[in-house]
Amino acid sequence: MIKGKRSVLLIYTGGTIGMHQNLETGALEPFNFSQITEEVPELKRFDLNIGTYQFVHPLDSSDMQPEHWVKIAQIIEKNYDKYDGFVVLHGTDTMAYTASALSFMLENLAKPVIFTGSQLPIGMLRTDGKENLITAIEIAADCHEDGTAIIPEVCIFFDSQLMRGNRTFKMNAENFNAFTSRNYPTLAHVGVHIKYASDEHFLKPPKGAKLKTHLKLDTHVAVFSLFPGIQESVVRHILNAPGLKGVVLRSFGSGNAPQVQWFVEAVKEAIDKGVMIVNVTQCSTGAVEMERYDTGIHLLQVGAISGHDTTVEAALTKLMLLLGEGCKPEEIRMLMHKSLAGEITV
Ligand code: ASP
Repeated sequence: MIKGKRSVLLIYTGGTIGMHQNLETGALEPFNFSQITEEVPELKRFDLNIGTYQFVHPLDSSDMQPEHWVKIAQIIEKNYDKYDGFVVLHGTDTMAYTASALSFMLENLAKPVIFTGSQLPIGMLRTDGKENLITAIEIAADCHEDGTAIIPEVCIFFDSQLMRGNRTFKMNAENFNAFTSRNYPTLAHVGVHIKYASDEHFLKPPKGAKLKTHLKLDTHVAVFSLFPGIQESVVRHILNAPGLKGVVLRSFGSGNAPQVQWFVEAVKEAIDKGVMIVNVTQCSTGAVEMERYDTGIHLLQVGAISGHDTTVEAALTKLMLLLGEGCKPEEIRMLMHKSLAGEITV
């Protein structure tokens, strides 16, 4: 480490970005990440200290589990004082879940944690990985004149857009614009210049507060989507799953669901047993307003919690964390209505 230079830790967890093409066989293979500068020689041109940390077994992000989120949080915690910012390289498939989880796990975060990845491996000619990686590093190192971070939050940087991590979801499996943030403005647009949104859009960590990690997550949760024709047996099977503590219910429109008696009863029975049911809309933009239609109000009356304008990824990981922290149902109900890391507009 050269003193006086800003520093960024690159954490490589896996995914397409860390692959190159074997020129003989044409197959995609993961490369040794400690040799990242061979794949991206441009990194040497940064006037920064760049450290690297590689998962021993890089993962396709479909294999990511909450224990891996814990590992990322621990790496950040351990290196928090040593680095000014963090870039997490991650597969795109579940990146929005990991970024959402980390936003809740890293309380009082005052430094940037920028997730990125790519649709094409970094070792391919047309890759989007280089630009994503290089700009993510630049953003992670960026600061105000007094040295404080511009972005004291967990973000996803992809295809020229910096987005709050817990507001994103993967929307495209084909194009370079893999992620979107529909209910919260983009935090920076990158073209010739990096244009940050105005200051009021960023989270403000409490002054002087120390980073506090929350590492307990309870996975006794489920996500289920309503659809016209859903069977009572299916709904009851899910809501009566042994040990179930929380459900993200993907409802219609502004939080609506069938009014048929068996459905309302099944939801009420689950809530009365202590299962937290969070109502999140299937629409990709907009919010739940259960009081707007008859088909929503009955859910409110039996005790479903509004997910407001949250993504499924954020609602699910927030539930996991609150359950993991051992919060009582009333406390969870109250905290689901509160923004913990900018995940809902309230
Ligand atoms: N399946 C890969 C993953 O999520 C896709 C990617 O990296 O973009 O790990």
